[in-house]
Amino acid sequence: MCKIQNVFKRGLSKLAKVHPFIFEGLPVRGFLVQMQDTWTEILSRRRLNPETGEYPKPVRALLGEMTAAAVLLQSNIKFDGALILQIWGDGPLKVAVVEVQPDLRVRATAKVVGEVSEDALLSEMINRNHMGRCSITYDPQNRRRGQQPYQGVVPLDRDNGESYERLSDILEQYMRRSEQLDTTIVLGTDDDSCAGILIQRMPIKGQDNLGGNQQDIEQDALDQNEDYKRISILTKSLTTQELLTLKSDVILHRLFWEERLAHLATDESSAVTPYFGCTCSRQRVAAMIQGLGLEEAESILEEKSNIDVSCDFCGANYIFDAVDTALLFNNQTLQPPAPDVLQ
Ligand SMILES: [Zn+2]
Repeated sequence: MCKIQNVFKRGLSKLAKVHPFIFEGLPVRGFLVQMQDTWTEILSRRRLNPETGEYPKPVRALLGEMTAAAVLLQSNIKFDGALILQIWGDGPLKVAVVEVQPDLRVRATAKVVGEVSEDALLSEMINRNHMGRCSITYDPQNRRRGQQPYQGVVPLDRDNGESYERLSDILEQYMRRSEQLDTTIVLGTDDDSCAGILIQRMPIKGQDNLGGNQQDIEQDALDQNEDYKRISILTKSLTTQELLTLKSDVILHRLFWEERLAHLATDESSAVTPYFGCTCSRQRVAAMIQGLGLEEAESILEEKSNIDVSCDFCGANYIFDAVDTALLFNNQTLQPPAPDVLQ
């Protein structure tokens, strides 16, 4: 397992980068991300998993967009903990999840039960009976005992009851409902890369937003700020093809050449480089087996000779035989002997 994790160091993800930028004098800022090897790593691990094989095409499309979106959201909020973007589907896609750590370590997986046709609409996969949900969870890094992670949940329907057919629309709605923030998101993916741009109206007007002056704040209502609306329309003119193939500075120039755009300086130590990495470990799987209880663990061992757990995110395999399992439920044998018996 260590070997697998050590292989994927940040150096391998040179092509991925998050670019933050602001519009000078306006309460609007944005982030652009383009990822290649982070995304292809997620796909290839799934393809190599003999139990699952590769994702159907529409699932790859959704998961790629979710991966770009989750990195943008984590970059935007700079949360000191894991940001977890999840879709809970009521069709063949049961769940899709992307987790992004504060240093932009990313992992993603999806569970599909049944057939997904090549040209399936988003609503056919995840919102057939209007029971689908999208959630964003903020799980603090050093959660205190009993402290719950914060989670916001939205349905996958418009106010008029129609299903959304684009993830970007679902997330824009989430930001409006849960955060009361005007947000524009454009996402794109293919089998080689995933990318996205996020524009957000900051809740404070003009220079105060940039200077941190919290006095006499005049807040705009949603959908009221003309500068944001203009920039939002420009952003929405970006095509998937442009997003996936053009360099970031070309994209930003092409969209905003009439605006006073400034790239925010990022030093090397700041988290701007997403990379693939899984947080699974033998210890965590052991804790999960302990959670099942001795009786359940023994009944699995009666059926099969081992308890065999593979990680949905990275494909790593953890095998616990009867002896390993017995040790998990007999803490005494895991403890070092007491000092007085060390003679
Ligand atoms: Zn894993």
